[in-house]
Amino acid sequence: MSNRLFADPQYPAVPVTGEDSLYPVHRIFCVGRNYAEHAKEMGVEVDREEPFYFLKDAQSLVQTGATIAYPPGTANYHYEMEFVIAIGAPAFKVPVDAASAAIFGYACGLDMTRRDLQLNARAKSRPWDFGKNFEQSTIMAPITRATAFAEIGPQEIVLDVNGERRQAAHLDDLVWNVPEIVSHLSHYYHLQPGDLIFTGTPAGVGAVVAGDVLRGSITGLADVELAISKAES
Ligand code: MN
Repeated sequence: MSNRLFADPQYPAVPVTGEDSLYPVHRIFCVGRNYAEHAKEMGVEVDREEPFYFLKDAQSLVQTGATIAYPPGTANYHYEMEFVIAIGAPAFKVPVDAASAAIFGYACGLDMTRRDLQLNARAKSRPWDFGKNFEQSTIMAPITRATAFAEIGPQEIVLDVNGERRQAAHLDDLVWNVPEIVSHLSHYYHLQPGDLIFTGTPAGVGAVVAGDVLRGSITGLADVELAISKAES
């Protein structure tokens, strides 16, 4: 048998609210443009024919409460507050009305973004990886089981920076709702336990600087918190 040359990469795991359980993270899918007002502020429209996605590495994940460095290669580092779906059962080509059975729970998440690199890539029809998928760019709060969460709709989703409200919407503002996203994605991937789906961000995205403190909340879920270090990255 061959020697493995170095330690295997570690997959992160996210705590489950109120339990001594950890949810191991496999893949991170992210929906692009799922709130009409956010699409508008980005100078585009929601494609109502079909959602689109990008992916982030599991290793980009850090837990809520972290203090992280301002990332390299950007001068326009943005927050995106999001409602996150955690898959709990295999799902492949599931219809919308059966999609909920694949869901383990929900959480608050931040899809941190190097906006200048993302927009440059978008303008050149290049991949978004450099703008989206980089170290410490995915922040997760503990996951609440779906059985402990109310019917999705009127819950408020908000983000404060240094105590000032920057994003505010409701979950029923989602263009594609939760079962529609899970069903659609399951026609392209064999979804598995450990797959997270970030469902997109509301309007009000903006830049952060060293020293900023972020707090995101969704009614009924644990808050997500992040601080940007004053130290050089
Ligand atoms: Mn996003």
